[in-house]
Amino acid sequence: MIGFNIAPFVGKEFAYIKEAIEAEHICGDGMFTRRCNQWIEEHTGTAKALLTTSCTHATEMAALLLDIQPGDEVIMPAYTFVSTANAFVLRGAVPVFVDIRPDTLNLDEKLIEAAITERTKAIVPVHYAGVSCEMDAIMALAGNYHLAVVEDAAQGVMSAYKGQALGTIGDYGCFSFHETKNFSMGEGGALLIRDREHVENAEILREKGTNRSKFFRGQVDKYTWVNQGSSYLPSDMNAAYLWAQLEMAEEITADRMGSWETYYQELRPLQEQGILELPVVPKDCRHNAHMFYVKARDLGERTALIAYLKEKGVQAVFHYVPLHTAPEGQHVGRFEGEDRFTTKESERLTRLPLYYGLKREQVLYVAEMVKAFYRG
Ligand SMILES: *Cc1c(COP(=O)(O)O)cnc(C)c1O
Repeated sequence: MIGFNIAPFVGKEFAYIKEAIEAEHICGDGMFTRRCNQWIEEHTGTAKALLTTSCTHATEMAALLLDIQPGDEVIMPAYTFVSTANAFVLRGAVPVFVDIRPDTLNLDEKLIEAAITERTKAIVPVHYAGVSCEMDAIMALAGNYHLAVVEDAAQGVMSAYKGQALGTIGDYGCFSFHETKNFSMGEGGALLIRDREHVENAEILREKGTNRSKFFRGQVDKYTWVNQGSSYLPSDMNAAYLWAQLEMAEEITADRMGSWETYYQELRPLQEQGILELPVVPKDCRHNAHMFYVKARDLGERTALIAYLKEKGVQAVFHYVPLHTAPEGQHVGRFEGEDRFTTKESERLTRLPLYYGLKREQVLYVAEMVKAFYRG
């Protein structure tokens, strides 16, 4: 059986976790958390990165830092993970869903303006499959209407748009280090803060509303409760696991890109014959091979393809059920404009196995089985 995902493991994780324990610092913000934060800052150019307990929590932090209030509206795609919406719904905001582009499955930047009202506070582009949204257009709109931008870059670590790392373009960027992502710490994420003036508030919010971060830097001689807050910092043992992978980020990415390219080359003839569709990466985007998907003609064909692959020992999976069709999405959200592509594209999509260490023979086998399905 070729599984859909195996959590990344490079070998040094045990040694680093042991080191964290021996340093007698297993709670948050130890040396491994600092190394990870610094790595993200150096590799993305963001003013500040803070490791968090998840991407979900990083997004919740962004909503709190933006002071999102009940009744505020936040524009996002419906083709995304629930956390994109929940972070704002927890503050009482209304998710306003806008249709996606059929090529990248990202928020259609041309449809955003029509969804803006006087209650709109933020736009949340989701960089699906680590392929960037059209950020120039989104940032221009945000500037014209004084809206914040929170990038859901959960899948976009090591991806870029016009040379700029994803997660660093909007006011805030959110990374995920869940075990299904390119780099992992089990559960975890990071908040990227573009503007230095928001760093102190973010540190306080993450540290239970205290100025403990300042205390550890020796900037105050005792720490105290200074604002509202919660606990969004992960254990240093989890950060130690992540550090082993960030050290090998180039190798992990190259390995994934190899599998991605092999799938693409093998399946391209089917696309050229008009049998299925492959991912589109616009020229301004550098992606990270987070995902390889194929799009069948319709839901029926997709269901048959997944069943066929399963029979042949390949675990292929579909993805998001659009949020506006889910019970909670119908309850709290609104779809603005026509759903031309969100539901249709989501029903056609199948993700093929792709993880660090997947062997070339395995990729070739999976591709061969996809071809066999269409031959039959
Ligand atoms: C994985 C993912 C999340 C959630 O990440 P967690 O770290 O599990 O909270 C949010 N948004 C998108 C688009 C994701 O793919």
